[in-house]
Amino acid sequence: MEPTNLRLFNKKVKLNKKYLRTFLTKLEKNPPKKLDKSAVEIEKQVWQETECLSCANCCKKMTPTFSPADIKRIATHFKMTPVEFKDKWLVFDKKAKDWQNKKQPCQFLDMQTNMCSIYEIRPADCSGFPHLIKRNMINYIHVHKQNIEYCPATYKMVEKMQLFLRPSL
Ligand code: SF4
Ligand code: SF4
Repeated sequence: MEPTNLRLFNKKVKLNKKYLRTFLTKLEKNPPKKLDKSAVEIEKQVWQETECLSCANCCKKMTPTFSPADIKRIATHFKMTPVEFKDKWLVFDKKAKDWQNKKQPCQFLDMQTNMCSIYEIRPADCSGFPHLIKRNMINYIHVHKQNIEYCPATYKMVEKMQLFLRPSL
């Protein structure tokens, strides 16, 4: 498995994101019957080719959402109250109605190693990211449309779906 080259990834995104997003829109409008089953197989291939530790682009460029349970758990770890924790690191996004990081990269990312310094107690959103497959994929395609720009695993997933499913659209 090759380490992720983010410079190369950003170039590919610039060139192809419009095309791949158009494909995803077509998929939303006309989902093939085999979509959910194919996605499971394609996801396996993606993780055989993707190494997150050489990437960490999600932690550098995006923010997770912090649920009340996440905030309580992580604040307790730092011997802080949830209010102190939010004041120090989070901001409430009125549109999305959730708590997010004030800054990127994430304050809990170790920039030397690309590792999460609170891995065991990280937000649930981080442990599920990049949410490549869902039981009903079609309701989740809009998330891939957003993440394709930041996450090489999502990009690969959509690229492979495009190769595999385009003939049936
Ligand atoms: S909490 Fe950890 S996994 Fe989540 S964004 Fe921050 S560094 Fe990344
Ligand atoms: S989930 Fe995506 S953006 Fe995050 S480290 Fe893995 S490949 Fe990179």
